Amino acid sequence: MNKIKTIGVLTSGGDAPGMNAAIRSVVRTAHFSGLVVKGVLRGYKGLLEKTIIDMPLRSVSGTLQSGGTILHTARSPEFREDAGVELAKQNCIEMGIDGLVVIGGDGSFRGARDLSLKGIPCIGIPCTIDNDISCTDYTIGFDTAVNTVVEIVDKLRDTSQSHNRCSIVEVMGNNCGDIALYTGLGCGAEAVIIPEVRHDLERDVLHEMREALQKGKTHFIIIVSEGVTGERAKHRKMDAFQLAQYIEEKTGVETRTTVIGYIQRGGKPSAKDRFVGSMMGSYAVKLLKNGIGNRVVVMRNNKLMDYDILEALSMNKTIDFEVLQTLNEIS
Ligand code: ATP
Repeated sequence: MNKIKTIGVLTSGGDAPGMNAAIRSVVRTAHFSGLVVKGVLRGYKGLLEKTIIDMPLRSVSGTLQSGGTILHTARSPEFREDAGVELAKQNCIEMGIDGLVVIGGDGSFRGARDLSLKGIPCIGIPCTIDNDISCTDYTIGFDTAVNTVVEIVDKLRDTSQSHNRCSIVEVMGNNCGDIALYTGLGCGAEAVIIPEVRHDLERDVLHEMREALQKGKTHFIIIVSEGVTGERAKHRKMDAFQLAQYIEEKTGVETRTTVIGYIQRGGKPSAKDRFVGSMMGSYAVKLLKNGIGNRVVVMRNNKLMDYDILEALSMNKTIDFEVLQTLNEIS
């Protein structure tokens, strides 16, 4: 591998709070290490269109506390084709980019693997609010999203309590119920419905509600992951609004649905997301500086480490059943 003098950085896939912390750390660590940094605008799309900017030390001033991504993000179907990856490689060579830090989800890592195989060393940083990347315990953005949802559910609880209602809250997470699970525990939801579990509505929700009603409970919060009820849910039986109707019919409790949507993706990153973004950004640059590519930075048991991208992509994600068990016991 040639000596790395200039690195590129891009954000790809869905935006997440903490992306800017990671970008800032990449830029600052690179300068500290004597490397030049270029920012690629709009992910792989920008790599194909050569929308590339210089990133001097002060280009990231004042960005740590802002949500979204200062480099913008996009999805690029062209980059999924071999011709697209080849063009991206040629553009990297032309623009003098010797290595690339890719901040995004596992789709973005597949692109990073393809570009690494063509000879441009890439390092992936896991950044998506869903926490749905198998190889890492944590993805940047998750903590902020969970805090946002908890704050909203606390507000919904006030009105549920006042009106003796049941609130169904649909949160993001297509194949991964972590946002639902962690917010469920964090805001004392009576039940969570997530894609990883084969739920029996009668047993898991209606029976529990009837028992609680008999004991005098008058309001309920049920968190449901879009992976079960959302438009793209694989085995969708009913959407969150139909679910509310069903629960109301079966229990007699007035039930309303709130779909939180994109509000979960925005906002100032939490301290945790700034911290993890900063640490992972720095780690990624050190790998590239040492001539190491085709790796993903991960967090395992609160320690940073790195995996080969291919190995990382072949891992399976499961939910933390201890969290689910605790939620069921104390709800
Ligand atoms: P999020 O979890 O927020 O959706 P993501 O990184 O998984 O983030 P994707 O839309 O799956 O988001 O991927 C982002 C980009 O990565 C795609 O637009 C495409 O350019 C590239 N990409 C995705 N999958 C592949 C693949 N199998 N091969 C090559 N490139 C890919």
